[in-house]
Amino acid sequence: MNKDLIENIGDNHISTNIETPLLPNAFDKSDDEKIENIKHHFAKIMEELGLDLTDDSLSGTPYRFAKMYVKELFYGLNPKNKPKLSVFENKYKYKKMLVEQNITIDSSCEHHFLPITGHAHIAYIPKDKVIGLSKINRLVDYYAHRPQVQERLSLQILKDLQAVLNTKDVIVMISAKHLCVSSRGIKDKDSFTTTIEYDGAFNNELQRNEFFGIVNNSST
Ligand SMILES: [Zn+2]
Repeated sequence: MNKDLIENIGDNHISTNIETPLLPNAFDKSDDEKIENIKHHFAKIMEELGLDLTDDSLSGTPYRFAKMYVKELFYGLNPKNKPKLSVFENKYKYKKMLVEQNITIDSSCEHHFLPITGHAHIAYIPKDKVIGLSKINRLVDYYAHRPQVQERLSLQILKDLQAVLNTKDVIVMISAKHLCVSSRGIKDKDSFTTTIEYDGAFNNELQRNEFFGIVNNSST
């Protein structure tokens, strides 16, 4: 790929796939092996930048960096870390919209590996199943902890909730700041990006507006 195209894909945040592109052997190695290998490669990057790794402050950085990537920032790449989305019978026969809002988004842009931070607001209309509220937060956290594109993150959350709740009536809205927009490139400190994915009853404008009304008037 030529360098102009590489920059173009990054600056326009173009995603090519709903699924996170993973190698078939992505998880053949253990986390510890990955940390050891990434530590080695990141030390090389630091040295290439001209840093002296014998300095006490820098010597542990390659290990800290590798552990942070595998265990924290990108733990959501590995399906074994996916939260169990237990659902319950809708005993109350609650058939109205349920909104879970201000869910923290801590993610990273896959084009620049810089933070994406913001909030997700999610609603669904239960049929026969309901989900534990914290499970929605955990699912968001899981998919956010991958190298991401905001549009894909919204869709991955939507698809999983639709599948587990056995309904299309789900809406996922994410508003987030991208450090790759605020700290490099155009360096716009104030702009943020909103994505909205929905289906089913939320194709109806009235239903969407009810959701937006709750999200916009929230003071918590
Ligand atoms: Zn980016």
